[in-house]
Amino acid sequence: MSPDNELAKRGQTVLILGGGIGGIGSAMRLRSLLPKEHRVILVERDTTFVFAPSLLWMLTGNRSREHISRPYANLEKHGIELVRGEIQKIDLERREAVVDGKTLTGDYLVVALGAELAPETIPGLAQAGHNFYSLAGTESARDALASFTGGRIVVLTAAPAYKCPAAPYEATMLIESYMRKRKIRDKCTIDMYAAEPNPLPVAGPRVGTWIRKIYGRKGLGYHTEHQVTEVDPASRTLKFKNGVEAKFDLLIYVPPHRAPRVLRESGLLGENGWLAVDRNTMKTPYERVFALGDVVSIPLALGKPLPKAGVFANLEATAVAKTISHSITGKGKPMMVKGDGSCFIEIGDGRAGFSRGNFYAEPLPKVKMYPPMWGWHAGKVLIEKLWLRNF
Ligand SMILES: Cc1cc2nc3c(=O)[nH]c(=O)nc-3n(C[C@H](O)[C@H](O)[C@H](O)COP(=O)(O)OP(=O)(O)OC[C@H]3O[C@@H](n4cnc5c(N)ncnc54)[C@H](O)[C@@H]3O)c2cc1C
Repeated sequence: MSPDNELAKRGQTVLILGGGIGGIGSAMRLRSLLPKEHRVILVERDTTFVFAPSLLWMLTGNRSREHISRPYANLEKHGIELVRGEIQKIDLERREAVVDGKTLTGDYLVVALGAELAPETIPGLAQAGHNFYSLAGTESARDALASFTGGRIVVLTAAPAYKCPAAPYEATMLIESYMRKRKIRDKCTIDMYAAEPNPLPVAGPRVGTWIRKIYGRKGLGYHTEHQVTEVDPASRTLKFKNGVEAKFDLLIYVPPHRAPRVLRESGLLGENGWLAVDRNTMKTPYERVFALGDVVSIPLALGKPLPKAGVFANLEATAVAKTISHSITGKGKPMMVKGDGSCFIEIGDGRAGFSRGNFYAEPLPKVKMYPPMWGWHAGKVLIEKLWLRNF
């Protein structure tokens, strides 16, 4: 693709909606690739970026809010223009977004608005438990775990598909390790009720078997295909679609996810409720409009979508930045996303396993699992440090 000569004459504006892993990743890379006459504008409603993978360590008291957050204002030091506010309307045809009543337009538009958490769609869930997929929810879960003296801890996935499919499994194993450290493991039972049929179903049976074995060794209960329909906070009871009821003393959950409200209300979603893109270029059907990260759904040959994860959002961000930069300047090459991904899986006691593979492989993703060791845990910590330092 050669640069659009007419466009190359004047400064171009790349408008990025959403300042999560995907939005920041594309903004930072675009800023380093594009000459100064081109603008990179990022729109975000929050004042502080939170590195979500670190919420797991916060759960067991190993990270604080300050450790894992950075002010968005820091982005301005990198030459990224920050617009703080709520995006109320999006017009992909015109590459426009209305932010707190003001219309912004881009020559290129990147939609990276993530997934919205919807605990309220399960009656009683928010009142009965702690949502460890949010910063405030993780803080309340951390305090509850720190003062827990014994009883039944339940980790729940309230829908079969959610971002970072490893996270609730890691949370369960980290909690087990934490209870041993607190010397109250013998006073607790720890169970996971999962809406999905297997751990990390898209990663294949090897990863699932590996997690089940560790759960067995750690004495963790594991109940699959339990779709919660209702929670009674007074009697601390979970009610499932299959008729089973389960009691808990402490409930920690992953809420259902859906596309952000602004996209639902702007009528821009595909049949599956998410944005549709070309899985290699991240282009939407609209001219010079890209979408990436959790807000898109990429169907795979096995009949399930590509898992929503920061590792994919980050890779897609690099690809989109290179493609846009090439289109504007004619330099470098557009980059294709090929479906490669990896995941560290924390198992507690300072160790993690590692899985890596190609998720676009057909008929099934090809994923290899590497046994747990201290080094994989260190690798995850290093990624956290790099993300927060670069900010
Ligand atoms: C506990 C936990 C652990 C995780 N661990 C891992 C891990 O180990 N590895 C991994 O790969 N992934 C992990 N993830 C998943 C990873 O964090 C997400 O997949 C990733 O953040 C997706 O990036 P994104 O840019 O698409 O969306 P997000 O990071 O969610 O960013 C979307 C941004 O858009 C903003 N936004 C939305 N709507 C509006 C609006 N109307 N106006 C203005 N701004 C708006 C939001 O405020 C947000 O900042 C984890 C997630 C959680 C919750």
